[in-house]
Amino acid sequence: MQLDPRTPTGPIEQAWDKSRFEMKLVNPANKRKHTVIVVGSGLAGASAAATMGQLGYNVKCFCFQDSPRRAHSIAAQGGINAAKNYHSDGDSIYRLFYDTVKGGDFRSRETNVYRLAQISVNIIDQCVAQGVPFAREYSGTLANRSFGGAQVSRTFYARGQTGQQLLLGAYQALQWQVDAGRVTMLPRHEMLDLVVIDGRARGIVTRDLVSGKIESHAADAVVLGTGGYGNVYYLSTNAKGSNCTAIWRAYKRGAAFANPCFTQIHPTCIPVSGHYQSKLTLMSESLRNDGRIWVPKRAGDKRSPGQIAEEERDYYLERRYPSFGNLVPRDVASRNAKAVCDEGRGVGPGGLGVYLDFADAIRRLGVEIIRERYGNLFEMYQRITDENPYRVPMRIYPAIHYTMGGLWVDYYLMSTIPGLFAIGEANFSDHGANRLGASALMQGLSDGYFIVPSTVSDYIATAKPEKIDSNHPAFHCAERGVAEMTKRLLSVKGQRTVDSFHRELGGIVWHNCGMSRNEAGLKEALGKVRALREEYWKNVIVAGSEDELNQSLEKAGRVADFFELAELMCIDALQRDESCGAHFREEHQTPDGEALRDDERFSYVSAWEYQGPGKPPQLHREPLVFEYVHPSQRSYK
Ligand SMILES: Cc1cc2nc3c(=O)[nH]c(=O)nc-3n(C[C@H](O)[C@H](O)[C@H](O)COP(=O)(O)OP(=O)(O)OC[C@H]3O[C@@H](n4cnc5c(N)ncnc54)[C@H](O)[C@@H]3O)c2cc1C
Repeated sequence: MQLDPRTPTGPIEQAWDKSRFEMKLVNPANKRKHTVIVVGSGLAGASAAATMGQLGYNVKCFCFQDSPRRAHSIAAQGGINAAKNYHSDGDSIYRLFYDTVKGGDFRSRETNVYRLAQISVNIIDQCVAQGVPFAREYSGTLANRSFGGAQVSRTFYARGQTGQQLLLGAYQALQWQVDAGRVTMLPRHEMLDLVVIDGRARGIVTRDLVSGKIESHAADAVVLGTGGYGNVYYLSTNAKGSNCTAIWRAYKRGAAFANPCFTQIHPTCIPVSGHYQSKLTLMSESLRNDGRIWVPKRAGDKRSPGQIAEEERDYYLERRYPSFGNLVPRDVASRNAKAVCDEGRGVGPGGLGVYLDFADAIRRLGVEIIRERYGNLFEMYQRITDENPYRVPMRIYPAIHYTMGGLWVDYYLMSTIPGLFAIGEANFSDHGANRLGASALMQGLSDGYFIVPSTVSDYIATAKPEKIDSNHPAFHCAERGVAEMTKRLLSVKGQRTVDSFHRELGGIVWHNCGMSRNEAGLKEALGKVRALREEYWKNVIVAGSEDELNQSLEKAGRVADFFELAELMCIDALQRDESCGAHFREEHQTPDGEALRDDERFSYVSAWEYQGPGKPPQLHREPLVFEYVHPSQRSYK
């Protein structure tokens, strides 16, 4: 396998313009003769499918939900970054680029990040033109707020429903193309295999989730915008349906998987409340603009927050990081929350929680302003916990939220399989070892509206894929493989439900490859994951049959893939014998407990190549070169 990132040479500011100019174009009259498959209708997939439909391609777009509008992107709350500098507070494309490279702890590719910062300003214009109702100042100009890891206000938002409003924008663009006949939408179709012919991606095999029918779809290029794999941990803030199957099966067909162990823990989630919980709820990072995080100074202090006087409280982020305070990046905020809870100063049942307190902000700004900014989040919190956050501080604790790892892609967002592209959370691209808040929406829309439509055109114009259809033997072979796996899952007829296995797997990964990791724990996790996977294939019970709507069967296939992915995550975490960003190896920390990178040995992207069942994956390294933002110890003090 060759890893060629195809990064443009020359000044970084001109790299994207230069490469776009050098890309080959497809004649407008010829575009309709080319079929492009887009799997996923979240922000990344919907924006890509809509734009390529508008360009004139014949697009087929797939999702497993009943409507594209139900993609997980709808859950995004806090906002989307853009270097518009509307506040004249010193923001610029270069500063967004700098913050993102530093925030990712110098484990991302500079040219990609610079392009992302450049495109960020176009995204806002595009979405405003679509009518996305961003929050505005009284004067009518677009409002901004701050997110972690930045000292400027560059986050555009629509109350606490930014993802939903952006998705409605992308969805209407998509539906326009569906109406124009250029996009065919196939909801409730799950991609279960990628078809590779002569070394190129030529289509996919899907299961119709209502009838159970297994179908083949041929194309000239395949784009995966299938989201992240945070649900490998079972409990996460992701939608329950989010899974890794599409990218995992592409990995097994030859696409390299990059940095699988880079998974993000979000510091502000509602704490776990019991064993039977199946989902965690995020409280948006935007709340850290006005909420102050604290715990009692004294360990074991069980008094209610109102009884703890100001001088008995420890506003530990403000104390340790005076420059960034409560707005330190997520990895730093999460580790600090864990540390104070480990010291016995956590609050709430089980002591796994810290306070996020709005009393000062309410006194300063008034309750109405706080309601305007975060009303829906406060309401959600109250409905779940039965506590009123206008009166008592919220209780929060870190939880799995985002995955920086994903399919390796080059500057053109193409994977190691020619013709296979990955966009949005499904690729590894821009966030290095730690994503800054409000940057995922930016990346998904940048990839979908602005990058992949050009790079897919370049691929089609250059590679000139010859015509094939789904009668090609490679499609029949992939269909047989999918049918066999389905039958195998149904035939185990064991004693344990899919959920029970998934919960146990999630616990292993959370405890050993979660907020902090060490060599012994990772080795132990590898053994446990392998043993549990073996038991899964002997003892899982999947009710129902394959020719009907069967949600246990859907889950069973996804959990089978999570088992294999969990193993790769632990292998990757073990191999990366340094701390960086969200990957905190306990063996490598500064005297005051911050992540300690090892640039000499680990300044590279780890890209893993599948070698076949039971064989260890092969590691390929893409060296990272920093010409503009020079690696330094991250400091938010
Ligand atoms: C609670 C929450 C709040 C967040 N808030 C923010 C925020 O404020 N700002 C920010 O920048 N980011 C935020 N994020 C992160 C951000 O929402 C996601 O990273 C982003 O929306 C992912 O978009 P996507 O298009 O890549 O994937 P998704 O929105 O996950 O879409 C995946 C699509 O792929 C389809 N799919 C998946 N697998 C298959 C398959 N095998 N076959 C067919 N279809 C498939 C799905 O049906 C879906 O349509 C938040 C995340 C969470 C969990």
